[in-house]
Amino acid sequence: MKYVSTRGESRPHSFEEAVEAGLAPDGGLFLPETLPSLREHLPRWQGLSYAELAAEFFGIFGPEIPAAEWRQLAAEAYARFDRPEVAPLRQLDEQTYVLELFHGPTLAFKDFALQLLGLLYKRQVLRSGRSISVLGATSGDTGSAAIHGCMGQEGIRIFILYPDGRVAPLQERQMACTGADNVFAIPVPGTFDDAQRLVKEAFGDKAFIESCGLSAVNSINIARVLAQCVYYVWAWMRLPEDRREEAEFVVPTGNFGNVLAGWLAQRMGLPVGGFRVATNQNDILYRYFTEGEYTPGPVVPSHAPSMDIQAASNFERFLYFQLGEDPARVRQVMTQMRQGEAVALERPEDGLRASRMDDAEIVATIRRVHAEYDYLVDPHTACGFTEMARGRVSVVLATASPAKFPEVVVEATGVTPTHPTLEALKELPLARHPLPAEVAAVKDFVRNHQQ
Ligand SMILES: *Cc1c(COP(=O)(O)O)cnc(C)c1O
Repeated sequence: MKYVSTRGESRPHSFEEAVEAGLAPDGGLFLPETLPSLREHLPRWQGLSYAELAAEFFGIFGPEIPAAEWRQLAAEAYARFDRPEVAPLRQLDEQTYVLELFHGPTLAFKDFALQLLGLLYKRQVLRSGRSISVLGATSGDTGSAAIHGCMGQEGIRIFILYPDGRVAPLQERQMACTGADNVFAIPVPGTFDDAQRLVKEAFGDKAFIESCGLSAVNSINIARVLAQCVYYVWAWMRLPEDRREEAEFVVPTGNFGNVLAGWLAQRMGLPVGGFRVATNQNDILYRYFTEGEYTPGPVVPSHAPSMDIQAASNFERFLYFQLGEDPARVRQVMTQMRQGEAVALERPEDGLRASRMDDAEIVATIRRVHAEYDYLVDPHTACGFTEMARGRVSVVLATASPAKFPEVVVEATGVTPTHPTLEALKELPLARHPLPAEVAAVKDFVRNHQQ
């Protein structure tokens, strides 16, 4: 299996090369050259455990890694989840299901991909004999999940920049209280975009990348998307057989990575009823899927901060298929977008719906779901519980534990959600490494922490 760039100007890469590179050299995103069919595998996969299913799935996409090794990698990655099902599917009423994706070490769905990616980095270090430094910026969940995927791993150092004072206190503790000496949580002044810009600038320095063995951790790595496909297959197999083909997956969305994974699984032959893109008040994707116009606006901070995004980095992969798998058209549209032009795209096909929710609705929804089902949802997951979920079989993806966002949940329900992992963090010392928002300072810091 080879991976090609959405922009068509990179040579085909193997799975390992695509994972190591992250972004394609031409600035595009990697996708399988042709999408394989999952259909003939589905009957065989029915009785597998979550880790076994993930190993089978990755065997198709990363055939250069032997099957036995995939089984080991997946077993290790998902052993740190605190439920034997890894991703439990809960039924709330006759037609409503929740797929709980928050039982990993950092209590958000990003653990599904980043636990595995951490082990792929480790494998790379063992095979090449060269250590690597992972550098990324986060608005909260990605950074902590990446850190927990890499902490304590020999030959790997991880540096995560985040906007000082703008991530939730518990998210900061998840990054800065690990006690691991290969983890560097780096608050910088400004917003997430400022932190992100510093990382991009650092990656612009080829000599620096080479000398530090630098690798980017961000939401566009193909391994992340593939790891997320697995739980759609898993959930689908746990639905009653007569409901699978009508079930609509409802996906709280920011960078479009999660919903893209499900949509790709459908394109590869997983017969589901469709998807709903659930946004918060930063609703560029809602506007696109309802009106066909893709126009970025300013980011307005919300109760669901991990979805406060107006330039969904994984959207380019969807666009590639929308534009007839024509890289020249992708390049043209991406240029228009970069110049801030409003881009008129064809209305997406049937089978993709969208909804949006503002902060007041998020609070009201957390309250209603609690009253109706005696079930607590976090503010991101709440965005999925609109009235559109009624009257059809819905699987709402629960992307974070309510315990990660206790303030909003208490405001809505009077109940304080807790989790032992987070309680334990409150007692630990913070190891912060604050830096000024200057790329030279970031590069010096990374260079000086190579041993
Ligand atoms: C990252 C995140 C999202 C958004 O996922 P995307 O893949 O960016 O669409 C939603 N909810 C939570 C809790 C997250 O951490």
